[in-house]
Amino acid sequence: MTDRILFWHRRDLRISDNLGLAAARSRSPQVTGLFCLDPNILNQDDVAPARVTYMIGCLEELQRRYAEAGSELLVLKAEPTQGIPALAQAINATAVYWNRGVEPYSRDRDTQVAAALKEVSIEIKTTFWDQLLQAPGSVLTGSDTPYTVYSPFWKNWRGQSKDSPVKTFEAAEGLSSDLKEQAEKAGAIALPSAQDLGFAWDTPLLLEPGEWAAHKRLDEFCDDDRYVAAYGDQRNFPYVDGTSQLSAALKFGSIGIRTVWEAAEVAYSRCRSDETRKNVQTWQQELAWREFYQHVMYYFPELAEGPYREHLKDFPWINNEEQFQAWCEGRTGYPIVDAAMRQLNEIGWMHNRCRMIVASFLTKDLIIDWRWGEKYFMQKLFDGDLSANNGGWQWSASSGMDPKPLRIFNPASQAQKFDRDAEYIRQWVPEIRHLDTGELVTGKIPDDECDCAQYPHPIVNHKERQALFKEKYKAQKAATEG
Ligand SMILES: Cc1cc2nc3c(=O)[nH]c(=O)nc-3n(C[C@H](O)[C@H](O)[C@H](O)COP(=O)(O)OP(=O)(O)OC[C@H]3O[C@@H](n4cnc5c(N)ncnc54)[C@H](O)[C@@H]3O)c2cc1C
Repeated sequence: MTDRILFWHRRDLRISDNLGLAAARSRSPQVTGLFCLDPNILNQDDVAPARVTYMIGCLEELQRRYAEAGSELLVLKAEPTQGIPALAQAINATAVYWNRGVEPYSRDRDTQVAAALKEVSIEIKTTFWDQLLQAPGSVLTGSDTPYTVYSPFWKNWRGQSKDSPVKTFEAAEGLSSDLKEQAEKAGAIALPSAQDLGFAWDTPLLLEPGEWAAHKRLDEFCDDDRYVAAYGDQRNFPYVDGTSQLSAALKFGSIGIRTVWEAAEVAYSRCRSDETRKNVQTWQQELAWREFYQHVMYYFPELAEGPYREHLKDFPWINNEEQFQAWCEGRTGYPIVDAAMRQLNEIGWMHNRCRMIVASFLTKDLIIDWRWGEKYFMQKLFDGDLSANNGGWQWSASSGMDPKPLRIFNPASQAQKFDRDAEYIRQWVPEIRHLDTGELVTGKIPDDECDCAQYPHPIVNHKERQALFKEKYKAQKAATEG
């Protein structure tokens, strides 16, 4: 009798270039897919409706792909430790396969699911590092320890060979009607909508969900000279469509990272000048940042709980709730900050340059604990990802592994440099669209031009707050070191 394998999808919502799924399919034609809507994740208070909408859209396409291949993707809404063993038994699965993850919750959950499956004598196979080009443990320092600094990590990571995409799974054998009935009895349900799950989101997403849209975007980004070959020059301008916008696809695995890397390498090999080669490499460095943050999350899971640096552990944050609210709503009186926060609130995504600007503003100007901002981002971002978000916030708060001790962004200089014609500000803060560009980028809006009912005065003074933050930082450092 052939083995039936249950393949548990998590952040690999695709059929193509999927390491664990390809391994399952090469062992047996009888492969059934599974996605478990995990209440431990969905009941958290940091789940973005846009993210759930993207995820459900990916699952809809994945279900279609399984059906086209002759099999099915089952859906559970259950505690994974109970639901998965029960379902695996119900469909007579010999083994359950899944790809590994780096986050503390998923590692802990996987250990428990594995134990529960062993108890009912179902084999597991979970050795696949599908979401990374280099597995944790394969990029270590000379003394075999994980890197805590990006630049040497990148050098080592870049020098290692990368796997090619794995063969796409084409056909599989589905469940008999009897087994389908058993699956239902064990809790398999029809895929709910995001709305059914309590997450309403009507705005079109920056990237349509699913494998097809992610591949299309990757092809467009890597084949067209306007994009990856110009990336290094354009990626810092938030009004330019100059980045890949693939972050949600990479978070949920609607595209395989080997496929992405291959496209980047092909684009690199097509370059005719050092300048364009450098631009493509800058994009590859961003993919390496993604891996760096996942490796450090794997080795230092305590990062998920708080600051890496000792002196930021008991930092005397001011944590003014009203100012936090103004930041969330994009009503700080700093046009570039407000434009960015409104972009986040309206479309569930924010340009990377602006993520750095608003994170610096929250931590260094408002002197609010970066974990408040980290959580707010997770509540809104459709690409929200623990490792990348935590890494970005710790970098901005100077609490992480970044060797540069103190980074403070001046919102006006950032806007002058990266939104010099105030196009981005005008797009997202329409009530001040009519003002002069100089006023918009510097944020120096004369009283008679600023109707406070429409647009607020700056809620803090950047210069004063920068000095105050530095003072607090210095005192805190002295106290921890002394
Ligand atoms: C405070 C803060 C919070 C962030 N939160 C997230 C988050 O929750 N999820 C997320 O995916 N990214 C996060 N980032 C990183 C970055 O802003 C986004 O990945 C990027 O803006 C997504 O747009 P893109 O897909 O067009 O990126 P591109 O510029 O095209 O980059 C390609 C891919 O590389 C990865 N990447 C790029 N920059 C980074 C980075 N600095 N760190 C880690 N990976 C990176 C992403 O997967 C991205 O899709 C955060 C950055 C900051 C400063």
